[in-house]
Amino acid sequence: MTKKVKNKKRGRPFTRKKKAKRGRPSKPRRPRFAKIKIQAPKGTHDILPEEQKYWDKIRRVVSQVFTNYGFDRIDTPIFEDVRLYIKGTGQTTDIVQKEMYTFKTKGGEHFALRPEFTPGIVRAYIEHGMKNLPQPVKLYSIGPLFRHDRPQAGRFRQFHQFNWEIIGDGSAVGDVQVIQVFINILKKLDLKKFTFYINSIGCPLCVPNYKRALANYYRQYINKICPDCRRRVKENPLRLLDCKKERCKNLAKESPQILDFLCEECRNHFKEVLELLDELEIPYILNPQMVRGLDYYTRTVFELWEEKEDFRQGALMGGGRYDNLVEMFKGKPTPAVGAAAGIERIINSFKKQDVKISEKEKPRVFIVQLGELGKRKGLKLFEDLQKRRIEVGEAFSKPSIKSQLKIADKQGVEIALILGQKEALENNIIIRDMASGAQEVVSLEKVVNEVKKRLRK
Ligand code: AMP
Repeated sequence: MTKKVKNKKRGRPFTRKKKAKRGRPSKPRRPRFAKIKIQAPKGTHDILPEEQKYWDKIRRVVSQVFTNYGFDRIDTPIFEDVRLYIKGTGQTTDIVQKEMYTFKTKGGEHFALRPEFTPGIVRAYIEHGMKNLPQPVKLYSIGPLFRHDRPQAGRFRQFHQFNWEIIGDGSAVGDVQVIQVFINILKKLDLKKFTFYINSIGCPLCVPNYKRALANYYRQYINKICPDCRRRVKENPLRLLDCKKERCKNLAKESPQILDFLCEECRNHFKEVLELLDELEIPYILNPQMVRGLDYYTRTVFELWEEKEDFRQGALMGGGRYDNLVEMFKGKPTPAVGAAAGIERIINSFKKQDVKISEKEKPRVFIVQLGELGKRKGLKLFEDLQKRRIEVGEAFSKPSIKSQLKIADKQGVEIALILGQKEALENNIIIRDMASGAQEVVSLEKVVNEVKKRLRK
């Protein structure tokens, strides 16, 4: 069925299949893997072993600080009904219009990989009747998100955030605690050089007047603004202030300011937030152009940037108040405020600011064993030491005592516990002080306490 023909370009013979007969499906071609370079999808990245120390440190600090501030951890699914984001994040936002990864299942369901945490958490708050818990409910999450953005420095298609929400508190204290908790995390992470921007974007009572004024202002320059902004004038005037194009940015500087349009309640709320920040000595810059990209925000919005702003990369953290989202999802009206920080960007700051991250706890004790019985007893001892929170190392796959002691030495442990064949049979063990080389035989039952005693010295 195949015939040899000459490949004109290279002069090499290759085989070409005859046209398949009508009505009979041809065999699918095998992909030629030799020619395909298999690599991580564009905009994603591997977190290699040498990077893990940064991730461990952030996870440790995040869970410690949130726990201290009374937040509980919540994990929601990585994919949700696409309507959750269309309704919550907003039909006209970049996330929904351009960046969501959506897919249909064989059963016809339409899902989206989560592009942000808040809608899923609010859904869970309603679905699990958390309104019946003492309010406010304080929740934090940590995990991957997906946005089909143009990949560049600090901007990925799969990236990671930690995210925190205070649901059921409409007071200025809620806003400030959401900010304060992050400032504390930065302090614990030894990150120092940053700038915090804040603004208020009002509520459904006052914002329509402002949107009208803004749209009227931009209409005067309709031929000068970019095509995206021309669309925004009609669809979502607030987003005009967000445009990164130089010609539009210059117009934004001269545009009407939201703070002049706030209703009395919004003005008082914002005043209180700023006063509390002053009291806590959290420095801020008022930025009336900052509106944030999501539809659900009301009143306070904020972002935290590195001191030397990297506009390509974007902010380290962003958030705000969203007093209408719970009700939009058919929950009872419940005010809420929250924020999210990008882990990749924080790690980038670590590197730029040359923050030293300690390696994971090094073992102080090493188990050396010989023979089947020695290995079995060594395995049990390993567990016993771990349970008593003693960092312990092993090299059970190495057969000789000499090679195991070499590894122990390399790891800089203080004590080696040697289970030779004789010791294993007699239920004893040798404790070797690695610095002096002094050895002592003790009974296996007493070894954990003996090790604890020696490490305390
Ligand atoms: P947002 O949900 O857009 O307010 O983003 C909150 C934080 O997540 C930002 O301040 C960034 O630190 C981080 N972030 C957002 N988008 C990306 C992305 N594409 N790649 C990496 N980090 C991101």
